[in-house]
Amino acid sequence: MARYIGSVCRLCRRENMKLFLKGDRCYSDKCSFDRRSYPPGQHGQRRGRKNSDYGIQLREKQKVKRMYGLSEKQFRLFFKKADRQRGITGTNLLVSLERRIDNFVYRAGFVDSRTQGRHFVRHNHFKVNGKKVNIPSFQVKVGDIIEVKEKSRSVEIITRALEAVARRGVPQWIELENEAFKATVKSFPERDDLTMPIQEQLIVELYSK
Ligand code: SF4
Repeated sequence: MARYIGSVCRLCRRENMKLFLKGDRCYSDKCSFDRRSYPPGQHGQRRGRKNSDYGIQLREKQKVKRMYGLSEKQFRLFFKKADRQRGITGTNLLVSLERRIDNFVYRAGFVDSRTQGRHFVRHNHFKVNGKKVNIPSFQVKVGDIIEVKEKSRSVEIITRALEAVARRGVPQWIELENEAFKATVKSFPERDDLTMPIQEQLIVELYSK
């Protein structure tokens, strides 16, 4: 599947907010967005641009899609599933994105970005309830125990990420046992657990056209 391989910092500048796609660097003074918080490209610094309703909805969708590192096809699939579920479609969408295992291992602090999470899941560094899981879109459920495989506990990226977890914090729906390299899904994430500014209703409006 086609994947964006350009500069990810460019994506933050395009969406006009920090998307935290580069782990530690995002919290340092090397963050490109902190240094150049205007859109990329030749006309990035042009003033007075007005966005249509469609443009605003599109930007919101692109922002969330990029945050979770998904392709249009994958993102739309998540939306369709969310739309079929009971409840508020926008909230369902965000909850199912949060329940992806590549996001979970990032949120729990085993890795320091979702991209790294996806990479590490694919390379079999984690087990769910004692079984190998290497599908990044795998949905964790309440009671699942996700642990770093014994062989992988000395991997520097994982140990460093766990040391840095205090800075990012772990959401209340996850219980992390740092020393044991494991985390439990205490409950499903709630809308309020997502602290990034997201207006999911705009995505619903875009896809409902
Ligand atoms: Fe975005 Fe992180 Fe790059 Fe800053 S360092 S622009 S937050 S990806």
